[in-house]
Amino acid sequence: MAEAGRITALALREVEKAVRAGISTKELDEIAYEAITSMGAKPAFLGYNGFKGSICASPNDVIVHGIPSRKVILREGDIISVDIGAVYKGFVGDMARTFPVGKISDEAAKLIEVTRQSFFEGIEFCRDGNRLNDISKAVGDYAESFGYGVVRDYVGHGIGRKMHEEPSVPNYDTGRPGIRLRKGMVLAIEPMINIGTWDTVLADDGWKVSTADGTLSAHYENTVAITSDGPRILTRAD
Ligand code: MG
Repeated sequence: MAEAGRITALALREVEKAVRAGISTKELDEIAYEAITSMGAKPAFLGYNGFKGSICASPNDVIVHGIPSRKVILREGDIISVDIGAVYKGFVGDMARTFPVGKISDEAAKLIEVTRQSFFEGIEFCRDGNRLNDISKAVGDYAESFGYGVVRDYVGHGIGRKMHEEPSVPNYDTGRPGIRLRKGMVLAIEPMINIGTWDTVLADDGWKVSTADGTLSAHYENTVAITSDGPRILTRAD
């Protein structure tokens, strides 16, 4: 799983390098496909429930699951969330980041940073013996302390030989302890945080999910293993 995670992270690094005003999300998708397959892996998203892409490309108010398109062209000041997955030797890596396109507003930069930090608040609790909701609550409480909306309709997940396995990993306090965490478990923890409401709308294409109020959304995800030494992020390039 660490190898799958490493390939995923290396591929996302190639996508990040290409992010600039004027590029289409389809071109970013092609870069991801090339990077993943050149390392002997398969894009985990391509063909998943019929999805047409190796990445989900979600600009600005799009939260998740944006379909790569030649018609979606990044502009200076945009933010773009890229979710990517790779399958290597039967195991899956899954991660996401939100990147700035050129110079972005202070408001957008703060959203990206708080979303990133909410992930790290959560994985502190990714330890043998803890409860699942310890993670969820830490992520959600941190993001909500900035007045942001924490997406509830889409959540993280267990991951292994399949991309989406039990359990679901919410990013907010569910009020229930949830399962006990054990070493050897691997979770995709992925806060999706909005400047405004957490409420979502699904596009007619059946995939693209946007904020109901049109405010910006950011995403930060890693595949994390619970080890005897604590949390280990598997989606790392180094
Ligand atoms: Mg995921």
